[in-house]
Amino acid sequence: MAKKYKIAVIGCGSAGAAAAIYLKRAGHDLRIFEKIADPKPVGAGILMQPSGLEVLYELGLLEDVLRLGTRVDRLFGETKKGRPILDIGYQDIDQNAYGLGIHRGALFMALFNAVQKENISVECGVDIQSLEERRDSVVLKDSEGKLCGMFDFVIIADGARSTLRSQIKIDSQIDAYPWGAIWHIADEPTSGPLADGRVLAQVYENTQQMIGFLPTGVSHPGSQRKLTSMFWSIEMATIDTWKKGGLNAWRDQALALSPNAEPLLVGLNSLDELQVAGYHDVRMQTWNTARTAILGDAAHAMSPQLGQGANLALFDAKELDWAMQQDGDLHQCLNAYSRRRKQHLAYYQLASRWLTPIFQSRWPVLSWPRDTLFEPISRIPFVRRQMVESLLGIKTGLFSRMQYRALPPLLPPAKTT
Ligand SMILES: Cc1cc2nc3c(=O)[nH]c(=O)nc-3n(C[C@H](O)[C@H](O)[C@H](O)COP(=O)(O)OP(=O)(O)OC[C@H]3O[C@@H](n4cnc5c(N)ncnc54)[C@H](O)[C@@H]3O)c2cc1C
Repeated sequence: MAKKYKIAVIGCGSAGAAAAIYLKRAGHDLRIFEKIADPKPVGAGILMQPSGLEVLYELGLLEDVLRLGTRVDRLFGETKKGRPILDIGYQDIDQNAYGLGIHRGALFMALFNAVQKENISVECGVDIQSLEERRDSVVLKDSEGKLCGMFDFVIIADGARSTLRSQIKIDSQIDAYPWGAIWHIADEPTSGPLADGRVLAQVYENTQQMIGFLPTGVSHPGSQRKLTSMFWSIEMATIDTWKKGGLNAWRDQALALSPNAEPLLVGLNSLDELQVAGYHDVRMQTWNTARTAILGDAAHAMSPQLGQGANLALFDAKELDWAMQQDGDLHQCLNAYSRRRKQHLAYYQLASRWLTPIFQSRWPVLSWPRDTLFEPISRIPFVRRQMVESLLGIKTGLFSRMQYRALPPLLPPAKTT
């Protein structure tokens, strides 16, 4: 029988919460430390892929999130002039496959509620700032130097801006992308092209302008207000100039790129209502030491170009659970976790690193191959299959993938407490 450990999880985002639920169910003793004192549903929309939904299904949360989000069947991108660039659908692989547009906060709350149902101790408002790995334990201290406990094993899941990543003995390279996005959340239009759409739609003008629309369902259980997230690509160094330009100037730019933005912009009164999101690229060769494992954005943040970050974070949790059930001591199990994640993470990190400048950069010339080649090559059945498999979140290499597990949309969960 696998040994049971006293485990601390730092960060209660997708990665930390999912890992805690898996490991609590496996019989370990869990404590979560979360920096935010009063976690609430905040954030814009994200696209969940079949890979991430598979994890939520295993955790018994799929029904909850399906009730909150909006099913997405297709990804469609075109140039300002209306030339199609991307048009791929989940059903190209499996009639029952789908993505889910959901509020990041709604996903967070679904996981947070599940953590509480499992009676996992969550200490909110605790900012862990020091991690000392000893031969037989890991010692954690908060930002005031107060001892928070000694643990057999610590899961570091404190997000892209992790302060703990540099305290473990693994080399990492962290770069901030020069481009990011502005997000606006508005009521889903009741008429027009964005009404009741099951599509993530994007419009591009060379590499310097991009607007996108993602239907995301409701922000919390019981709400009747269906929402759409709109995103606008921006170079981070130009944010102040953009703000000085004012709301009307930006509204005109957005409408010139896509008139479909009109109903979403109606209730917007100030640029301050928008959220700015920067992206990071985090590279590590391995994701464990003898007594720590690093999960989610802390381990492998990437640009959201492929819409995979939260899905990979959830998959980390699933694979850590698998690794902890393998034969061997703790260090061997954690090594198994890193080995198991290697190919999946390498593929998506490389793909998002290569794709991002083609959609967001100062080099308009990069849009030429995108605008002329993407659509014709996506009609070649083999290439199309690779593109859809990439979208599904199951690729492990250019010509390899993990097993795709079809999800019955509303069947009871496979794994319960
Ligand atoms: C603009 C944008 C769009 C995106 N779109 C998508 C998408 O479409 N699909 C997708 O799958 N992903 C998307 N992502 C990525 C996705 O949001 C992240 O990959 C995912 O949230 C990572 O989860 P995580 O648990 O690793 O980190 P986080 O969600 O960041 O959670 C980390 C947690 O740790 C806590 N914490 C931090 N420091 C400490 C500390 N010192 N002590 C205690 N607690 C701490 C934080 O408060 C937080 O709750 C997008 C990201 C961005 C920026």
